[in-house]
Amino acid sequence: MREADIFPAYRGEMEYVCLGCQARYPIDELHYTCPSCRGVFLLEDKQSGELGRTSGQGWRNIFDLRAGTKNPTLRGIFRFYELMAPVLAEDAIVYLGEGNTPITRSSTALERLVGQPMAFKNDGQNPSASFKDRGMACAFSYLKHLVAKHEWEHVITICASTGDTSAAAALYAAYVGDPLKSVVLLPQGKVTAQQLSQPLGSGARVLEIPGVFDDCMKVVEHLADHYRVALLNSKNAWRILGQESYAFEVAQWYDWDMSGKVVFVPIGNAGNITAIMSGFLKLLRLNIIDRLPRIIGVQSEHADPVFRYYAQDKDARRYEAVAVRPSVAQAAMIGNPVSFPRVAYLAEQYEALGGFGSFHVVQVSEQGIIESMLLANRHGHIACTQGGECLAGLFKAKEMGLMDAKELAILDATAHALKFAGFQDMYFRNAFPAEYGIVPDQALANVPRLVIAQDARATLSESAFTVQAAENVVGILGLDKKIA
Ligand SMILES: *Cc1c(COP(=O)(O)O)cnc(C)c1O
Ligand SMILES: [Zn+2]
Repeated sequence: MREADIFPAYRGEMEYVCLGCQARYPIDELHYTCPSCRGVFLLEDKQSGELGRTSGQGWRNIFDLRAGTKNPTLRGIFRFYELMAPVLAEDAIVYLGEGNTPITRSSTALERLVGQPMAFKNDGQNPSASFKDRGMACAFSYLKHLVAKHEWEHVITICASTGDTSAAAALYAAYVGDPLKSVVLLPQGKVTAQQLSQPLGSGARVLEIPGVFDDCMKVVEHLADHYRVALLNSKNAWRILGQESYAFEVAQWYDWDMSGKVVFVPIGNAGNITAIMSGFLKLLRLNIIDRLPRIIGVQSEHADPVFRYYAQDKDARRYEAVAVRPSVAQAAMIGNPVSFPRVAYLAEQYEALGGFGSFHVVQVSEQGIIESMLLANRHGHIACTQGGECLAGLFKAKEMGLMDAKELAILDATAHALKFAGFQDMYFRNAFPAEYGIVPDQALANVPRLVIAQDARATLSESAFTVQAAENVVGILGLDKKIA
């Protein structure tokens, strides 16, 4: 076996650490919130001091070597096994092709238009077409480990979702199979048709609640508090851990050099930005990188509790949930993010180590989000509305004087554009309900045009129909005849 394919020997000793009261709990049980204070957890490896014995260069070499592995358990997020969940045996690891998503540098034309070097990391190129697969690969690997250990015979996995969490949970549950059964709770009519089709196609039990995501979350939390279910929302600290791989991949792609890089992340339940900050901090502490990239979180005016918190004076900040309004960044349409305490905890460390200005949250308009998505995709990207939100955030950051002209903006396209095609369609057809506050620019509308009427088939022969259709195309495009 090649060195790169050998599963690592290191085993850590992981614990849940409560951010509310600092209590620590062993990981042989499923915990979501602290049994004593209901605070949220992060997972820590007590042995991680051991990892410091390998130099930063040593780790960079190991991870770079593994980038060419053919061992499926090390091909995805577990390329960074020692930083991820180093308690899992090789046979617990579930790999469906997640992670290692491409970072695509924007075209010259787009960069000129935006006035900033920029790239998208296409997390929509994960198996269920969003970054949620990163967290699910870790959470399901841990579940597999736990199921084997306790010899559980029935496990119901459950999550509330703005669409993508349930798509990912249903996919991984379907793959792992018995004894796992997937149940997802969705806000009725508030996920896209594509997102709804995903858990249905994966054979999950799909339950709907009238209301928004925050209403579903309350129901799921009640269930997790009183019944035997495995909760897969980002309260589940194993998901946060898996999502840290995004930060590791960004650092690796740029040869571990984070100078002059600014990472833009849309914020919904705030699990993703938590994981990304935590991931970069881990790399810095092990000297794998020598400085932190700047991080800019982005929220829509229609769902902006984290923005509002950081917009207050540092000494007088108060967190308050907001009532959401309809948003095209529907996957981030959350008024009371469960990971808010994690963001507050990590942002403080991030600023302490990264310096003033290393962490910001900006707020963008719905109009800005959808038009930024359209602009990106007209230049060869495949950004979802949340990816558009990141670009709108870049425009906003520039306007606020937060960007140096030479910095490279790395925007998180959190899902594939196809999942949110309905919003593009509403823009092109000028069909947004008033609550979105979006007035389409008709110059951007792109609609199909019929070349020849169906009736023509009745009057023309098959070959005459083809020629007539072609001639109509010539008329539309104003084509020049070939010169013989
Ligand atoms: C879940 C999700 C978000 C929001 O991420 P959080 O971790 O909830 O902040 C953004 N974009 C997409 C596509 C998502 O699925
Ligand atoms: Zn606690």
